[in-house]
Amino acid sequence: MPTAVLIVAAGRGTRVNAGADGLPKQYQMLAGTSVIARAIAAFAADLRVHLIQVVIHADDADFYDQALGPLRHRCLPPVTGGATRQASVRAGLEALTAVNPARVLIHDAARPFVTSTEIGNVLDALVTSPGAIVAVPVADTLKKAGPGHVSIGTVDRAGLWAAQTPQGFHFAAIRDAHQRAADAGRADFTDDAAIAEWAGIKVILAPGSSRNVKLTTRDDLAAAEQRLGGPAPAASRLDVRTGTGFDVHRFASGDAVWLCGVRIPHTHKLDGHSDADVGLHALTDAILGALGDGDIGQHFPPSDMQWKGAASHLFLRDAVRRAGERGARITSADVTMLCEAPRIGPHRDAMRTALADMLGIEIERIGVKATTTEGLGFTGRREGIAALASATLVFD
Ligand code: MG
Repeated sequence: MPTAVLIVAAGRGTRVNAGADGLPKQYQMLAGTSVIARAIAAFAADLRVHLIQVVIHADDADFYDQALGPLRHRCLPPVTGGATRQASVRAGLEALTAVNPARVLIHDAARPFVTSTEIGNVLDALVTSPGAIVAVPVADTLKKAGPGHVSIGTVDRAGLWAAQTPQGFHFAAIRDAHQRAADAGRADFTDDAAIAEWAGIKVILAPGSSRNVKLTTRDDLAAAEQRLGGPAPAASRLDVRTGTGFDVHRFASGDAVWLCGVRIPHTHKLDGHSDADVGLHALTDAILGALGDGDIGQHFPPSDMQWKGAASHLFLRDAVRRAGERGARITSADVTMLCEAPRIGPHRDAMRTALADMLGIEIERIGVKATTTEGLGFTGRREGIAALASATLVFD
């Protein structure tokens, strides 16, 4: 029977919760990774946890996608929470009913420093108890304040523990407890252990960690970032992707070839459905490769008559458009042609100029090269021309 974790991220909070950009704290970046992604990663890496369900605010779907990145593929589709933490947890438990896990760990998205130790401590305690939470003994002397913040007494801290998350329960027990609390009109519980206690479920206090803090204020975020060694340098947040392309066309009778958008008089032409510009075809595939968006044959099938004799810059411009739609900038392109003839050198800068126009980037970012294959192979026998290309894209 599987173990699920419910990550509670539906809060908007009021305690200096959002940053200057209005982003709720669980979606704020912490040394290059979002707070919620750090919290989820600890569970995603733990082999004892099988399912991850996140509860989010109805307005936060975009924040969620952006903050989790590829980690969202490890999670069930997020569910929408309610007006209170208690209502949000209940919504998450309802969603998990479909998979009916044996155990559920409930964890605050705003506790990014949870480790496998705390997770294990709760799971170990759940072997013998229907409920277990991580908690730490209260270390500070506790004061009771009267009007005007006058201290009116010292509270005995013996036996007092500060509750953290994860809080783990046998799934059916906590789901039923939440249902009963809702039926009873009780909406004032601040954590799930409180509901469990109210419902008569035994809850064990397992060892937590002073590092497993909840980030509540902007100062908490700043301190957490300090702990992690400060904000990540901009470079480490760069999302750089590289694609490669390869193409071949054979010679046929004719008087010129198109290479990288430049017409070069020659003893033959290149044969193909379009203008057979191998350089542009290889580079188009390189960009599509970096985008993970298929290849040129998929977007412009040779079986489609509308591309017969087409100028290949159309294909490259289409790939550039696709990059733009994905928020990607092309930062460099490099094309190598393999042929004995024609000579490429005299046309190199014309090709780079043509490519710069098609890609919409500076000519300094574009390389065009050529090599013979020393008379070897089909290019050496002058049966056709091959081209290799790479493209580098930066995603903003
Ligand atoms: Mg081709």
